[in-house]
Amino acid sequence: MKYVGAHVSAAGGVGNAPLNAAEIGGKAFALFTKNQRQWQAKALSAEEIEAFRTNCRRAAYGPAQVLAHDSYLINLGHPEPEPLAKSRAAFLTEMRRCAALGIRLLNFHPGSHLRLSSEEDTLARIAESIDIALAETEGVTAVIENTAGQGSNLGCRFEQLARIIELVRARDRVGVCLDTAHAFAAGYDLRTPEAFDRTLTTFDRIVGFQYLRGVHLNDSKAEFGSRVDRHAPIGKGKLGLAPFRLIMNDARFDGIPLILETPESERWAEEIRLLHALMETTSP
Ligand SMILES: [Zn+2]
Ligand SMILES: [Zn+2]
Repeated sequence: MKYVGAHVSAAGGVGNAPLNAAEIGGKAFALFTKNQRQWQAKALSAEEIEAFRTNCRRAAYGPAQVLAHDSYLINLGHPEPEPLAKSRAAFLTEMRRCAALGIRLLNFHPGSHLRLSSEEDTLARIAESIDIALAETEGVTAVIENTAGQGSNLGCRFEQLARIIELVRARDRVGVCLDTAHAFAAGYDLRTPEAFDRTLTTFDRIVGFQYLRGVHLNDSKAEFGSRVDRHAPIGKGKLGLAPFRLIMNDARFDGIPLILETPESERWAEEIRLLHALMETTSP
């Protein structure tokens, strides 16, 4: 079963996210459980939690169909003590919000070294940050997203994702979210069946499919290997439809949230239909 959906708005309360997701025909959804551009957030009220849980139940969204995304401000690899502590505290808050809402998957960007620290030290700090949050919470998996590698962002090489996982103690609660546009911009080609197969074989060898907890389905405005993070609507960017057809017909992507983060939200319902239409029906 393919769980295709989009990163929907939670404006007006987290309980609106499952409603917005159902409205566009999503079988999965992603959301921010708080404003992603602010550090502070009001604690979730019992009513908000109940609304979210009820609306998920009504629209039949189980834990495998919901992927939270953390704030863009958080840098779990920050080389300086004060911002690192602030990031770790904010990440723990995000984890606790997920736990309260019954969300099992929290997706985040690994972090940046800001050219103040080595790659290895930064990856170690990220792993430690993950362990700190996991030790304080239960039931939520930390899902590391591959990045396009803009600036000093780590996580654009599969080796970096694997290194973080290797350094995490609570390895049963760590996973990976693969963003198609980021992978492409980072130099992992997906445009032909051969390139797709090569990239995924590399991913499996270095990270391991057993860690795959979600996918971001984005086409890319940015060129192959450009390390620029710019999403395009499905089939309208440099990736084209081919990788999405391959994903939709590949059982390794069953049972995990497949989330659109494409720029034009008014197209999401159509994009979800398009993705389902790419599934090849096997003759009886
Ligand atoms: Zn992301
Ligand atoms: Zn992106």
